[in-house]
This record gives sequence, C-alpha cells and structure tokens, in this order.
Amino acid sequence: MDSTQLTLEQVPDGIEQRLQELRQLLQNASYAYYILDAPILEDPVYDTLYHELIALETQYPSLITPDSPTQRVGERPASQFTSVRHNIPLYSLENAFGNGDLAKWQDRWRRVASDIADFEYVCELKIDGSSLSLTYENGVLVRGATRGDGISGEDITQNVKTIRSIPLKLNLKNPPTVVEVRGEAFLPLDSFAQINQEREQAGEALFANPRNAAAGTLRQLDSKIVAKRKLDFFAYTLHFGVEGASLGAEDIASNSDSRLPTLSNQWNVLQSLKLLGFRVNPEGALCLSLPEVVEYCDRWSIERRTLPYMTDGVVVKLNSLAVQAQLGFTQKFPRWAIALKYPAEEAPTVVEKISVNVGRTGAVTPLAEMRPVLLAGTTVARATLHNRDRIAELDIRVGDTVIIRKAGEIIPEVVRVLYELRPETTEPFQMPINCPECSQPLVKPEKEAVTRCINASCPAIIRGALEHWAARDAMDINGLGEKWVLQFVDTGLVQSVADLYDITVEQLMSLERMGQKSAEKLVSAIAASKQQPWSRVLYGLGIRHVGSVNAQVLTQQFTSVEALSEATVDAIASVYGIGSEIAQSVHQWFQNPANRHLIDRLQTAGIQFHSALRTSDDSRLPTPFVGKTFVITGTLPTLKRDEAEALIQQAGGKVTGSVSKKTSYVVVGEEAGSKLKKAQSLGVALLSESELLELLNPIQS
Ligand code: NAD
Repeated sequence: MDSTQLTLEQVPDGIEQRLQELRQLLQNASYAYYILDAPILEDPVYDTLYHELIALETQYPSLITPDSPTQRVGERPASQFTSVRHNIPLYSLENAFGNGDLAKWQDRWRRVASDIADFEYVCELKIDGSSLSLTYENGVLVRGATRGDGISGEDITQNVKTIRSIPLKLNLKNPPTVVEVRGEAFLPLDSFAQINQEREQAGEALFANPRNAAAGTLRQLDSKIVAKRKLDFFAYTLHFGVEGASLGAEDIASNSDSRLPTLSNQWNVLQSLKLLGFRVNPEGALCLSLPEVVEYCDRWSIERRTLPYMTDGVVVKLNSLAVQAQLGFTQKFPRWAIALKYPAEEAPTVVEKISVNVGRTGAVTPLAEMRPVLLAGTTVARATLHNRDRIAELDIRVGDTVIIRKAGEIIPEVVRVLYELRPETTEPFQMPINCPECSQPLVKPEKEAVTRCINASCPAIIRGALEHWAARDAMDINGLGEKWVLQFVDTGLVQSVADLYDITVEQLMSLERMGQKSAEKLVSAIAASKQQPWSRVLYGLGIRHVGSVNAQVLTQQFTSVEALSEATVDAIASVYGIGSEIAQSVHQWFQNPANRHLIDRLQTAGIQFHSALRTSDDSRLPTPFVGKTFVITGTLPTLKRDEAEALIQQAGGKVTGSVSKKTSYVVVGEEAGSKLKKAQSLGVALLSESELLELLNPIQS
C-alpha cells in the first residue's frame, strides 16, 4: 500500500514525535537566523533537517500542519522597521545538492515546457549575503527593502543609502517611471573579520558568519554604524515598467536609452545592470549545456576559497526571459532557477549503534554507526567518538540525532548532539570494561584519554599489525588485505608479522576460498617484500609516532637497525625533524625483548635492516640533492611543508622560499600559485610529491 493512503492511526510509532520536534527545532533555528541574526544551527544541518521534514510530510501528508516551516516562504519581517509590500514577491530558490539534482531539475522543467529549444544557462555565484530590493522612481533611489517573508520586507532605505556600490541615481538619460533592482548585500571577508575583532574587544557577541553579519548590519537602527561597516552589493535582477508588472521585452523597447542591450535574457540583464551603474559579480558565465554548468560548479567549489567574499553555491538560471515567463513559479521557487549548494562538511544523521574498535596499538576507539549521510561528496556511515571522555562529554546515545563533520582528509567525527531531537527511550552509553576482541580487562593509563587492550596476543592487535606491515606505503604486499589477515589470525596460522615469511603454499591452500594460483601469488608477494628498503621496514614495524616520513628521516641518519636500536634518546631526538616524544617512543620500543626477538626473526627471514648507500663514511657521496636548491609550493598530498623540507635537507639539499634561475627543482602541490607560474616561465624542473619521494628512495635502497 502506498504510504500516502495510510490513515493517522497507521503512522509508525515515533514519526509524529519526530515531526513535532523537527518543526520546533527548525522554527527556533529560523527565528535565530532571520530575526536575531545569530544562528543556532549550521546551514547544511538546517538544510538536511528541513529536507527530512519535507520527506516525512510527503510520506504522511495527513500530518502536515499549517505552521510547519515547509509551508512558509521566508521569515516574517522583524518589527523595528516599517513593513513594505513587495510589488513582485521575492521568491526563494530550490536547492540542489549535487550534479544529479541539476539533471533532475533539467528533466523537470523540460517536461513542463517540452517545446523549449533554448538550453542556455547563466551561472552566477550564490553570494552568501542578504537579498535586497531597490526601487528607483524616475531614476532615483526611493526605497531599499529586505526580502522578509518574500511578500513583505522591511524598509531599510536609510541603511541601503550608505552602501557605496548602490547608485543613488541610475545612469540613464530617460529613465522609466519605476525600476526595481535586486541583488545581494554582503560583507567582504576582511570587513567581517574586522567587525568581529571590534566586537570581541568591546565584549560583544560575535557574528557567526558574514551572512549574519550583513543581515544584522542592514537592520541596524543607526545608519552611521551601517556606513562604517563597508557593506557591498552585487546586482542580479532588473525589473522595468509600471509598478507591479514584471519585465517583458516590450517594456525594454520603450526605453529610450539606446546603449542598453535588448533585455531578452538574463545575460543581457547582467550587462545592463553594469551600464546602469551597479556592481555585478564578475565571475558569472553563460553556459550552453548542462555539462558546462557542471564544470562551472565544480571549478568554483574549489576556487571560491580564493574569493574575498563568501559564496555558498552557484545559482543556475535559464537564460531566456521568455522561457522564464513561460515556466513561472511554484508556491516558493522560480521553476527556471536552482541553487547548487556546495558539498556540506557538516551534516546531521541518526546514531544506530555505538561500537568499539580495537586498533593495532590496542587503543580502543568508540565509533558511532549512523544512518548513511552524504558529507563533502562521500557517503559516511561511521564516525569516531575518540574516547571515553568524549563520550561522557557528548552524552551520546543510540537514537540520537548528531551533527558530524568531515574537513579535508580527517576521519568524520561527531561534533555535537541535537538533544532537542532525542527520543524518549534512550540509555547512556557505557564503555566496555573488557576487550571486545579478547575479553581481557581494558586499562586506561593515567595520563592518557585512551583506553587500551594490553594483551599482546589480542587478535585485533595482531590483525592491525599485519595490515599495517602489508600496507602500500609499508611493505606493500600485494593481495594481503583485510580478508586474508582475518583468516590468518582466526586460524592461528599467523601470530606475528615474522610468521608471514614461514607460510607455505600448502598451508594457504587449506584456507577457505584460497586456490593454488592465489596461494602461490601471495607467497611470492610476501617473499618480494624482503626487498623493501630499511625505511619502509621501520615504518612497517608500527612504532608509535613513526609515520612514513619520520621513518625516512630516521633511516637516513641511522642506516642500520643496530645503529638505531643502540642510539640514546638524545641521539635520536637530535635528528632534524624528530622530537623527544618520537625519540622516547623509538627507544622504548627497542628495549622490549619481544620486539628484539621479532627483529631477529625478521632478519633471519631476509628483511632489509640496513641502507645500501650512504653510511657515515660515504655521506659525502653526491646524491641528487647535494648542492641542489628546492622550492616547495602548494599543498602536498601527504607531506607537511616542514616534513618535506626536513627530508630534502637530510638528503643534502637546500630549501628556499622563492623561485629563481638558480632553483634546481620546484616541488608542486595542490593550489600552487605564482611560484609555479614563475618556475614554468623560467623552465625550472617541476616535481610532484611522489617524484620527490622517488628521488629520495635510491638513497635508501
Ligand atoms: P537560499 O539562501 O538557499 O537561496 C535564495 C537566496 O539566494 C536569494 O534570496 C538571494 O538572497 C540569494 N542569492 C545569492 N546570489 C544570488 C544570485 N546570483 N541570484 C539569485 N539569488 C541569489 O534561500 P533562502 O530562502 O534565502 O534561505 C533558505 C536558506 O537559509 C536555507 O537553505 C538555509 O541554508 C538558510 N537558513 C539557515 C538557518 C540556520 O539555522 N542556519 C535557518 C533558516 C534558514
């Protein structure tokens, strides 16, 4: 049965409560956002919860209430300014959250207007500010109003007049009686930073973002304060003609100023706005197809970070005004435009289970297993809860709605719990006392936040050690993934990485779903790993704080396992880029008899514990680095700037800050800027991070 036919009684338990709570939270959030200019939710979180509300209301239409936030266009204007009715309503924009939504939108409008042959689009950056409606009578600015609820806004003319980029008089010889211009008032990022700095000094609450700062500024009662705050304005809509009429080609024809292009499309509107004296965002583009639109959106999802103002997406509009008129509006949106929002780095979702994971160091990490949610372009279903203290701090429970965040490469984490949406029957979560893998008691070292399993034979610790040893950037054992590691440990075939080198093809063939060919391949991949250089071996041992970069740095200085295992903490710490914490950890590791035994076994198996080149005697040997000057530009995929510098310097190279003819190599990362251009113009050799590491590797092998 279609769920829309369900009667009230058949609505599953909990739905009504969820709907009520969502409405209440969204209403509070809207008030805080529109009226107080002090949001209590992040925009993407608001958007996702709003869409959950729409989805539930679509599924259970009998539960829609007239006061639901889905039933209104915008927020009612606040009372301190005179209310003004807009001649033409200011609609909101439908949101798209990915390229798939753009395609669906195209399908939708094409269905409504199947005869339309015009597929041109105008892409404009969605400026994260506050929309304004400006009315000019006989070419003179007479009114500036906020959008309000779309039907009525607030008259903020005095404040609008302080914005320098809004002309008080239109640049027209014979202006029509009424012209309405719409656009976005915004605060450039540097002005925003300055305002917040001043507020901080004055002990006032900070604005959450430039949008709220712009909206708050526009609704200041004292225009002098507005004038000081350096608001700016980009125009994007132009309505000519008598009051109440929308723009049509015939209105433009009656305009006697011949310089204006015929206003038959949005692109010409933007050009005309410039001629009238407005600032128009310079990044807008005319696109002839949807793939071009997608390319524009993808480009700006990255390049927006270089702009001096905030954008939160791209507004895609059908170019032809005749087509726009034909398509018209829904109750809330124009059918001819859509706002593609940039991928959210924060989103709400529901916790379905809290599990604990035991890592290769024995660290026990609680994990939230959640309803899958799209975050920064990927689907996320698990987030780390870090440790016992964090769980207590969050008081996170199964059933909770939480906000998760993923910034850059970091594993998603739970930022906060929306307690307002907590179901009635939830229980606080208790961390286990015993290891979920080996049932031994867990310990919490006094100075650490982490809970650990300290049983060296814990299957989870052995599995972690094996996976780390076999990983691509360690011993790179092709084919030895999670699946086989699990079987190796479960069957007792392998209890330490050294056991790997004793495995025979016959033993492997006794495992489930392992054929002869695969077994032979795996045995030879394991054997091939004996050729891996000392730096990878050291990394593969999984010593705490020794990542692949530290392993490279350490093995350049200590060219054999004997040299490193006998070195004092001070000697290790004196290596450039290695601090005392790392040095202590390395030193301690080698003091453990079990680890020394492991090294003995691995040495017997034929693993490389020495560098072939560059002992202390031959350190003067020329390497590709000695006497060479390097410049690093942009963000490298894995190395931090100082790590890359340390590696180059350890190998005998010099690192400088600017590119010249004398530069030997420029190491180029993402978003490289002028240094890359200069290197290209001077013909200096370019290196990627992996090429740099390859150059470093021969020293090791
Ligand atoms: P919107 O901000 O998603 O899009 C419409 C607005 O885009 C227009 O009003 C206009 O101001 C702006 N815009 C910028 N550049 C434009 C351009 N080139 N052409 C046309 N318009 C352009 O929709 P909305 O109805 O103004 O606001 C709803 C949004 O507000 C939600 O999606 C949400 O992100 C945010 N909101 C957040 C909270 C919160 O608690 N954080 C609460 C309520 C609303």
